[in-house]
Amino acid sequence: MLPFKLIYSDDYYLPIGTHVFPAEKYQRIHKRLLETGVAEPQDFLAPEPASDRDILLVHTPDYVNKLKTGTLSAHEELQMEIPYSPELVRAFWLAAGGSILAADHALKDGIAFNIGGGFHHAFPDHGEGFCMIHDVAVAIRRMQRDDRVRHVMTVDCDVHQGNGTAAIFAGLRVPSGPLPSRSASTINNSTAAKVRNAHAGEVFTILLHQENNYPAWKPPSSIDVDLPDEIGDDDYLAWLDNALSSGLRQFEPELICYIAGADPYREDQLGGLALTIEGLKRRDELVFRVARARNIPVMVTYAGGYARRVEDTVTIHCNTVIAAKQVFSEAAAT
Ligand SMILES: [Zn+2]
Repeated sequence: MLPFKLIYSDDYYLPIGTHVFPAEKYQRIHKRLLETGVAEPQDFLAPEPASDRDILLVHTPDYVNKLKTGTLSAHEELQMEIPYSPELVRAFWLAAGGSILAADHALKDGIAFNIGGGFHHAFPDHGEGFCMIHDVAVAIRRMQRDDRVRHVMTVDCDVHQGNGTAAIFAGLRVPSGPLPSRSASTINNSTAAKVRNAHAGEVFTILLHQENNYPAWKPPSSIDVDLPDEIGDDDYLAWLDNALSSGLRQFEPELICYIAGADPYREDQLGGLALTIEGLKRRDELVFRVARARNIPVMVTYAGGYARRVEDTVTIHCNTVIAAKQVFSEAAAT
């Protein structure tokens, strides 16, 4: 058995028809984890849908009402980039419930996964970029409301900037100096990323993403690392290490929400970075080792992944579970 829980439901499937988003990936990940013996059936827990009250911790009553009554405008549906249906609403409420349950178990066990979620382009009053409801923000607000945590850090490694996350947690901003240059000297100048840094309130947001990609408007987060096109494993990992070190010097979270997008992969159809499958696993290990060393619980969600071969996306997501199994088993053994 795994030393942590995987939150999953067959109903995570998004009924969006033929779409670049591989809505069946969740079922494939679940199947692969079982077939390869990475996980056993009892490692999985089924979520309940989030309550409307939970959703309203993040989203506006007007937006929630439109979703529940099917009254989005044509423009709003277009902006979401997935076709509206009542079934789709149910899938997003369930994903948010899954992230709440994952956060709950992360706080108990040190780490937990939602084998779904990570819908980081959803804003309080509208959906965008295949995201209707910001499940991670809902989970954070629910944990805060229940006095389980106060200070939370999001570490978003999807190739696309988490504009919804940045907007939701904008909070109080105090401009601060540039990042310490510990790893800057080790990073090739031709792959230099731009780093924007601002202090945040109770939720500190670290976003690593490709600069020349969706979304066009990138609202500032606590630390934004705007990566150049085609960056590879070593440079990416150096920037991630740098951002984590800097963030954890400024902020002491009681929970890290890791958004483990599979789309920094070099074969991704909607990404322009050049990470390998192995590099992405090293990325996951880095996040887990940093969190484990500091005893900070981690809640994992999956976000995007649009590899030409869906099987690659499934492999990258399954590797995140394998990375956690390795890191957290080692820790338990010492
Ligand atoms: Zn993405």
